[in-house]
Amino acid sequence: MRRLLILGAGTAGTIMAHRMRSLLDPKEWSITTVDQRKTHYYQPGFLFLPFDIYRPKQLRKPIRKFIPSGVEFIRQPIDRIDPASDMVFLQDGRSLPYDILIIATGTDIAPQEVEGMCGPAWRRDIFDFYTFDGAKALRDKLREWDGGRLVVHICEMPIKCPVAPLEFAFLADSFFHEKGMRDRVELTFVTPLSGAFTKPTATEKLGHLLREKRIEVVTDFAIERVDHAEQKIVDYGGKEVPYDLLVTIPTNMGDAAIERSGFGDDLNFVPTDRATLQTQVKENIFAIGDATNVPASKAGSVAHFESEILSDNIMRYIEGKPLKDEFDGHANCFIETGHGKALLIDFNYTHEPVEGTFPFPGVGPLRLLRESRMNHYGKLAFRWIYWHLLLRGHHIPFVSATMDERGKNFGNTVSSKESGHG
Ligand SMILES: Cc1cc2nc3c(=O)[nH]c(=O)nc-3n(C[C@H](O)[C@H](O)[C@H](O)COP(=O)(O)OP(=O)(O)OC[C@H]3O[C@@H](n4cnc5c(N)ncnc54)[C@H](O)[C@@H]3O)c2cc1C
Repeated sequence: MRRLLILGAGTAGTIMAHRMRSLLDPKEWSITTVDQRKTHYYQPGFLFLPFDIYRPKQLRKPIRKFIPSGVEFIRQPIDRIDPASDMVFLQDGRSLPYDILIIATGTDIAPQEVEGMCGPAWRRDIFDFYTFDGAKALRDKLREWDGGRLVVHICEMPIKCPVAPLEFAFLADSFFHEKGMRDRVELTFVTPLSGAFTKPTATEKLGHLLREKRIEVVTDFAIERVDHAEQKIVDYGGKEVPYDLLVTIPTNMGDAAIERSGFGDDLNFVPTDRATLQTQVKENIFAIGDATNVPASKAGSVAHFESEILSDNIMRYIEGKPLKDEFDGHANCFIETGHGKALLIDFNYTHEPVEGTFPFPGVGPLRLLRESRMNHYGKLAFRWIYWHLLLRGHHIPFVSATMDERGKNFGNTVSSKESGHG
């Protein structure tokens, strides 16, 4: 028996377990997945939980429910990978040999990276919504908060779902309007980028929406520390932004097991070929999803697109064929803009998001980079698609793994070089 080992049973690891189990002969290949958790979270729902739009139980299900039959699941923290001996060591002392390894350990928040963030004010007047516990604590806070300065803040890039902080600001505007207290809330969006988003055309559109909703924007803010006694964030240039309630996206980092294995970059992301998804660590080690250092968005939709190319490439590797360098960084994301509307963006490494129609060129029915109710319903439908199609590795109808250039109004905006992460 040969052994395929998958580290992480989140979005990407679960999809790969399904795809590889259907491709590999069970008489020749065993498949094992390892994860420290027993619960699978629908992370896009963390955006809605603070506003009481989703309830906690809609966002979590047992991990085992999504492990396909014929795949072993080990619930245990991973200690480290030893590429030289093709072995993974678990924290309980077990060692797992492999012929092929897929790293899908994702990324998590690291609030300890910024001085003063994890002090006594953490989850009192400083919150995150990138974790289940954080989003739930913020929901409780927002239920009783009676207004003041709300600052939505990104520490540094890359972060998973780079549009989520903007969506949070838009939803906050909508939430306070509905509660009849918008005039008692000063909303500020603070970013290390030079604009609202990483790509120019979307930045213009989103910047306009921020102004329309009276959300002040502070750009180029490289945070140095949080002064929780004075309730302000301070950047390296001495700029200060005061807050009553800080909703921050802390630094996102790959897992410490990658650091212990000795091959991560300075944020513990795995050096990975952006087109084949083979790692630069060793030829029998592949990586997918948020764990990689590829300059695509860190998003569930991206992990799904990557899985179609990666499963093909693993089969080619086993058959001794050259790998296909086909992953183009395709990302597809709804951006909730509040008041029951949303935008949709579709882009890749070389083409920024522009206006157009999706998924059928010229027909739609979804409109790209334009607010609509239909897009909002698309965002809500994504939860069903996630649990029932995406996680099980099914192809999403009419959406290809690589980006379709048809139906998009590129005009002069086609960017021939990438413009940063996500
Ligand atoms: C607020 C928010 C909103 C989002 N919105 C969207 C959206 O609208 N659309 C979209 O496509 N994406 C969205 N995303 C992003 C999406 O959820 C992630 O990109 C996706 O889950 C990445 O999948 P992954 O498998 O790489 O990582 P994960 O799903 O995070 O899985 C990683 C797994 O590895 C396990 N693991 C890590 N280290 C170890 C270890 N040492 N030992 C054992 N197990 C380990 C973890 O327990 C985890 O289960 C959002 C994310 C957030 C936080």
